[in-house]
Amino acid sequence: MSIAGGLAKTAENVVAMEANTMQIFSRNPRGSGYRDPTPAERERFWQLRREHRFGAILAHAPYTMNLASAQERVYEFACTVIREDLARMDSLGIENLVFHPGSHTGIGVEEGIHHIIAGLDQAISEEGQITVLLETMSGKGTEIGDRFEHLRAIREGVKRPDRVGICLDTCHVFSAGYDIVNDLDGVLEEFDRILGLSTLRAVHLNDSMMPFGSHKDRHSCIGKGEIGLEALLRVLSHPLLANLPFYLETPLDDAGHKEEIRFLRERLSCFSAPLLHLS
Ligand code: FE
Ligand code: FE
Ligand code: ZN
Repeated sequence: MSIAGGLAKTAENVVAMEANTMQIFSRNPRGSGYRDPTPAERERFWQLRREHRFGAILAHAPYTMNLASAQERVYEFACTVIREDLARMDSLGIENLVFHPGSHTGIGVEEGIHHIIAGLDQAISEEGQITVLLETMSGKGTEIGDRFEHLRAIREGVKRPDRVGICLDTCHVFSAGYDIVNDLDGVLEEFDRILGLSTLRAVHLNDSMMPFGSHKDRHSCIGKGEIGLEALLRVLSHPLLANLPFYLETPLDDAGHKEEIRFLRERLSCFSAPLLHLS
């Protein structure tokens, strides 16, 4: 996954790897710097996405922001990043921006959720189009978002729930203790009951190095982890998920992702969902 400034180059890579959507970082994922694409890069990006009929494009906020933090400087930084990046990605015509809800670092889930809600309210502008997605998390440390209930509380708390959706990460939900291997239908029923399937806008398709319910976040290549190929193929081909974009976040380079996408397409008889990569 590249940074927003490399938008056109990334779109070219996507075409070369025979994918049809993409996820990018909205800025440096481990820092705070960014470079916006030039008008020529924007033009090229739009040309490619139209020509190759890309599905919805996803921007990922940096890992360094924590909107649940009680530390003022950390919180202010997160508020600025999410506000700026929603506006920046919106102006590029990107459909969704996903972020990790955050870690409460001791103040408790409820208090952390209050911070997230206030942070989202100051970031979502009245006239914007972009949807902000809450990612389902593995629940390592004091991470918020390993329970669907946390994400519901955030969505129900904001002024504009219509602008807040969910991104389901298969590695994260599995390590959080949702059994997508033996009971995918049950997990989707639970998701629907708590959040509503209409809020689900994207899937991060990853295998997991760590076992079920371990609350550890280590992505593995498709079919090489504890979830396994068959279960991930059932996710990809589930009728309730048929119209969603899938993004690979497996530890591979572009050539590896191209292979992985080709392999997945071969294994699915009627496969039309958009797919792509990061690392
Ligand atoms: Fe993520
Ligand atoms: Fe993810
Ligand atoms: Zn992860």
